[in-house]
Formats: sequence, structure tokens, C-alpha cells
Amino acid sequence: MKAFVNQDICIFCGICGGVCPDVFVIDSDKRKSIALDIELTRELLAMARYAESICPAEAITIKDVSTKEK
Ligand code: SF4
Repeated sequence: MKAFVNQDICIFCGICGGVCPDVFVIDSDKRKSIALDIELTRELLAMARYAESICPAEAITIKDVSTKEK
């Protein structure tokens, strides 16, 4: 599972980075948050899901990327 931030709708509120700093980082230049390209451990997944649930812009998605799509 990996987290993603829709850069088009992120309002740069910083909440996700506050609750889950190991996954979400701030891009100060773009004024957006970025989800690191990492496979989420159980603990990180729980925190990332929490961030997803409270993101005011609903910009966060969490997807299962374990199966290769072609
Ligand atoms: S919580 Fe949502 S809107 Fe706020 S910085 Fe994170 S992704 Fe962007």
C-alpha cells in the first residue's frame, strides 16, 4: 500500500504532515504536500489512513500497488 496526494487539490494545510510525518512531507516551493514513495508498514498505514480521513481537501488516497498493472 502506498499513499498519494492529489497535487491539484491539496490546499497545503499541513495536517497530513503533522499527523504522519514519516509519509507526508511538505514541498515549500510548490506549496503542496507530497506522499513519499514508500511501501506503508502497518503502523504507517494506520497513520496515513487517519491523515486521509481528516484531509480537508480529500486529496489523499491510499492504494494497493503490490500487483503490477499492465
Ligand atoms: S491534509 Fe490534505 S490538503 Fe492538507 S496538506 Fe495534506 S494533502 Fe494537502
